[in-house]
Amino acid sequence: MRPCRPRDPALGSASSDADPGGEVVAVGTIQETWQHRAACRGPESSIFFPPSWAERRDERERREARAKAICADCPVQGECLEFALRVREPHGIWGGLNEAERRDRLAQAGA
Ligand code: SF4
Repeated sequence: MRPCRPRDPALGSASSDADPGGEVVAVGTIQETWQHRAACRGPESSIFFPPSWAERRDERERREARAKAICADCPVQGECLEFALRVREPHGIWGGLNEAERRDRLAQAGA
């Protein structure tokens, strides 16, 4: 797995959370089998999360569009999105959706 970023979708969540059923999700140690086939494994992995500096809106939109284009061709997009929704991943692009889009998806589902 890539060690190049802390909250890499291909590495699992670094956030702490509980799933809707109340199970505790291990912090930073989640290794799901789909992650080995993630298209975001590689030098462009940093575009899936905001930089450490203040990002302008147009910069964020360009970065997210690049990440989402990778997700669109990812063979495990469904698994990735399901995982991010399940653990309520609060940051980054997962399964082709950013954090606001995932919140909307959860709200629509009544979760
Ligand atoms: S759907 Fe996107 S974020 Fe998820 S594993 Fe694939 S490329 Fe990475």
